[in-house]
Amino acid sequence: RCLSTSSFDPRNAIHEKNSSINAFVHISDCPPTIEAETSSQSACSKPLQWTTVAVKDNICTSDMPTTCSSAMLENFTSPFDATVVKLLKRAGADIVGKTNCDEFGMGSLNTHSIHGPVINPFQTLRSAASVSWRNREKRTAGGSSGGSAAAVAADMCDIALATDTGGSIRLPASYCGVVGLKPSYGLISRWGVVSYADSLDCVGLMAKSTFQVRRAFDVLETPDPNDPTSVSKRLREATAGVLREFSPLKRRSPFEDSQLRVGVPQEYFAQELSPSIYNSVRTILKALKDLGAQIIPVSLPSTSYALSAYYVLASAEASSNLARYDGIEYGTRIPLPPGSDSRKASKVYSHTRTQCFGDEVRKRLLLGTYALTADAFDNYFLQAQKVRQLVRNDFDRVFRWPNLRTAEGLSSSSLSAEGVDVLIHPSAIRTAPLLPRETASTATKSSMDPLDTYLQDVLTVPASLAGLPALNIPVPTIQDDNVSADSDQDGWPVGVSIVGQWGCDRLVMDLGMVVE
Ligand code: GLN
Repeated sequence: RCLSTSSFDPRNAIHEKNSSINAFVHISDCPPTIEAETSSQSACSKPLQWTTVAVKDNICTSDMPTTCSSAMLENFTSPFDATVVKLLKRAGADIVGKTNCDEFGMGSLNTHSIHGPVINPFQTLRSAASVSWRNREKRTAGGSSGGSAAAVAADMCDIALATDTGGSIRLPASYCGVVGLKPSYGLISRWGVVSYADSLDCVGLMAKSTFQVRRAFDVLETPDPNDPTSVSKRLREATAGVLREFSPLKRRSPFEDSQLRVGVPQEYFAQELSPSIYNSVRTILKALKDLGAQIIPVSLPSTSYALSAYYVLASAEASSNLARYDGIEYGTRIPLPPGSDSRKASKVYSHTRTQCFGDEVRKRLLLGTYALTADAFDNYFLQAQKVRQLVRNDFDRVFRWPNLRTAEGLSSSSLSAEGVDVLIHPSAIRTAPLLPRETASTATKSSMDPLDTYLQDVLTVPASLAGLPALNIPVPTIQDDNVSADSDQDGWPVGVSIVGQWGCDRLVMDLGMVVE
């Protein structure tokens, strides 16, 4: 018998929907029945009881494989659960399965996966509502956490766990029309999460509402001695204290006397932005203004360098992290062709890595290795680190709040009078791109030019470089059946991002609840 009551097992619906969406790569077995606990004490100790949670396939689970959508880990099952999985289970969550993603988290469209691409479920939902809907093409769910976003959008789970290195939660959340939180770096444990780029990787959450995201965040936001980058209890308490005291949203009416100051970064409204996105953000800003918030244009001048710096740094860290998959100590081993000298470890190594890593991962590893060579280090890696610092400085300059991770003492005098509480900007430059027609095959390539694909992250990487909390909220779009698939107003989901200073995750979510 299932944890869920025998009359309703969420896995049945997941199996049924998954054939057309491909969000899940593994669906768990039903856990044994747990006696329904009704006391208030059990509600406190199991805050996620009966909540179905999907887990991205780069987060370790001891009872299901963790493939990272790569042939390299096709047969890998971890001997232990990641801390986040352990915490969810302890809170009573029902872990329903593992979700599809780009290989090792590298990609923006969930097309680099040995399991095949994820199909954005919005079309299916839309078609059901409107038979005359003309746009029949399949669209991407975004990446790298496309499976998690699609699973939430298609009601296959209540909450999904995902990772975000440069936008992998916010971009698919925006394309699929769900809420997605990339928390402040260091607040949620990364122990048991397969590393892509350690200095940027964050575990975060997706759900249909900010309220649901917040429920899981409250369970996961705790120090972990196994993760050296997990911030201390002392800093967490100090941060919570400052927020309690100074948050403009703690008052009865957050907008009274225009206490809430919302910054709009000019550089995020570039030429590439489609008009439908621009209009959606304006709608949100107008609604906030009508409620009494102050809307303040701000400038983050280093934004245009952030994307190139991100791809240098992320690839450099990936080349170091993924060096362990050598077919000898870690990962699948591909036998050498007959007649080769198998005594040479380097042959096994190169043969295995060439066969098991996909094109995108191999490209990143080459780029990252090059950026770290003596010849290129100063011109690439060091320059990118400098840009990262400039991006951080930009944010620290515009926020009213001090950077709570680096600030010495925290007091009301640390708050600047001119700064803003949060920033609001579009999450993506466009709605979900089309998938190529041959999507039924597992060896799909994106229909987009690789540089165009990288450009999808242009609005999400700055917050990643600075380690800031960022929340994607879906905005209602104009629904019009007479618009074409390539029209700027195509009716597909649009998301806005609310970004806060480091540690202001709860302030960001409080505003998310007002906006949605
Ligand atoms: N698309 C970006 C990349 O490929 C971000 C991916 C992520 O956040 N995991 O690196």
